[in-house]
Amino acid sequence: MALHLVLKVLGIGEGDEVIVPDLTFVATANAVVLAGATPVMADVRRSDWCLDPEAVKPLITARTRAIIPVHLYGHPCEMDELRAIAQARGLRIIEDAAEAHGAEYHGRRVGGLGTCAMFSFYGNKIITTGEGGCVTTDSDEFAERARFLRDHAMSTEKRYWHSEVGYNYRMTNLQAALGVAQLERIGHFIAERDRVLETYRHYLEPNGVTLNPQMDGTRPVNWTTCVILDDIDRKGRDKVMARLKEDGVDTRPFFYPLTALPMYESSQQPVSADLSARGLSLPTYTDLEEEEIKTISQALLQAVQSSLR
Ligand SMILES: *Cc1c(COP(=O)(O)O)cnc(C)c1O
Repeated sequence: MALHLVLKVLGIGEGDEVIVPDLTFVATANAVVLAGATPVMADVRRSDWCLDPEAVKPLITARTRAIIPVHLYGHPCEMDELRAIAQARGLRIIEDAAEAHGAEYHGRRVGGLGTCAMFSFYGNKIITTGEGGCVTTDSDEFAERARFLRDHAMSTEKRYWHSEVGYNYRMTNLQAALGVAQLERIGHFIAERDRVLETYRHYLEPNGVTLNPQMDGTRPVNWTTCVILDDIDRKGRDKVMARLKEDGVDTRPFFYPLTALPMYESSQQPVSADLSARGLSLPTYTDLEEEEIKTISQALLQAVQSSLR
C-alpha cells in the first residue's frame, strides 16, 4: 500500500515504466502494476544481492519514470550510483526499505536516500505492527499529498468534499501505538539480530558457508540470516531444507525471481536466478540463543553433506 501510495503521489501510472530488481518480494512489482504502470526487471549484483546499477542503465527508455531499489534482506543498495543514473535521466528513486529498518549507507539511514521510501511493519519484519507500514520523504509537498490520498482524498478545508479518487490507507491508532512501542526498542532488536548473524558466522564461515553480504561503507541490518549454498541447484537446496525440517529446523527459501512468476514471465536474469535457487534463510529472531544457533549450524552442515551424497 505504501509503495502504491508513493507511486500515486509521484503521478506514476498508465504508460509509465518502473525499474525493479528481479530478486525481491513480489509486492515491489505488484505495487507498480496496481498503479497502472509496468514493472521492468533488472538483475541484482552478486556482491550485495541488490539492484545492479549497470543492469539498470540499458533498461531505461523514454517511458521510464522511476527506479525502486530494494534493500534486500537488510543490505543497503548501491545508492550513489543509482542516484547518479536517476539524476542524469530525470528519474525518481523510491526505496523499498521493507526489510532494512535502521540500515545505513555511508552513514545515512535507508529510507532517506531517495525521493520517497517505504517500510513494512508486517509480522516478520524488524519492527512490526502486525500489518502495516509507512512512507518517508523529505518533501513537504509529497508528504501532504500522501496524507491527502490515504484519507479518501478528502479536502482539509471542506469536509466530505473529494476532488479526486483517494484510498483508505490509514493505519489504525491501535497498531500505531504498538509501532511506537516497537520503535522505542528498535536498537535492541537490531543489536540482537546482529549478534545472531555473528554467531552463525562463527559456526558456519570456517566451514566455507557464504552468509549475508556486507559491502564497504554500508551498515546492513540482519532481517534474516541468509546462506548461499555452493555447487547446488534448486532441487538440492530444497532437499537441504527438507532435511533441516526433519531435524526440527524451519527455514525459508529465497524469493523466486519475478521473471519466473506467471504474471511477470520474461527473460531470466542470471544472478537473480542463481541466488534464488541456492539461497535460504535460517531462523533469525532476537532471543535465539547461542546453543540453538550452534545446533542449527551443525544441522545445516550435516544436511549439506548428505545432499552431496
Ligand atoms: C514485506 C515486503 C513488502 C510488503 O510489505 P507488506 O507490509 O507485507 O505489504 C514489500 N517489499 C519487500 C521487499 C518486502 O520484503
